[in-house]
Amino acid sequence: MQIDKNHVEKREKSYDDILVANKAWAKSMTDKDKDYFKRLALGQSPDYLWIGCSDSRVPAAGVSQTDPGELFVHRNIANQIITNDSNLMSVIKYAVDYLKVKHIVVCGHYGCGGVIAAMEKNNDEYLGDWLSSIKDAYKKYKAEIEAIDNEKGRINRMCEINVERQIEKLASTSIVQHAWDKGQELQLHGWIFEIETGLINPLTDILSNPNQ
Ligand SMILES: [Zn+2]
Repeated sequence: MQIDKNHVEKREKSYDDILVANKAWAKSMTDKDKDYFKRLALGQSPDYLWIGCSDSRVPAAGVSQTDPGELFVHRNIANQIITNDSNLMSVIKYAVDYLKVKHIVVCGHYGCGGVIAAMEKNNDEYLGDWLSSIKDAYKKYKAEIEAIDNEKGRINRMCEINVERQIEKLASTSIVQHAWDKGQELQLHGWIFEIETGLINPLTDILSNPNQ
């Protein structure tokens, strides 16, 4: 079935609706388990760090069906590993060195607006810089991408390449390298989420230091 983009209805939710829904959710959680929030408040020891896209359609906990406490999360446009971004790097540092997560997932998604903007050579303030690594990758993989005969396929392959490259970058960060050198259990996983089906497609894994 073809869905006409112009006929996708937007669910309007007011600011107040969100606060009302929060109260109802908190009540439903404590109705099921009266100590639920008291237990959560004691601390966190998640096994997973999720690095995903900021896109509103790819909620980390929702698509992975994880509960509060299970996922440490960082999201940015087009799920980039940019090693001079102190926000991202402090998240990775805290997750690996303090929380001792066992898995880092970089989850991209097909039809990513950040990837499309990079392919269109977006040069907006901040955004153009942020996407520069994807622009470089697009140049590098241009022959492979251009050989695909439809636009959706070209965009989606670029979305996959983007995830694969972020996993390589993650593996070469000093934080991940030090963890592996110490013998710490840490696996890297590159996934891509398909908004049209709700399914996660695993693309690549690095399960231990590839240089050892
Ligand atoms: Zn995206």
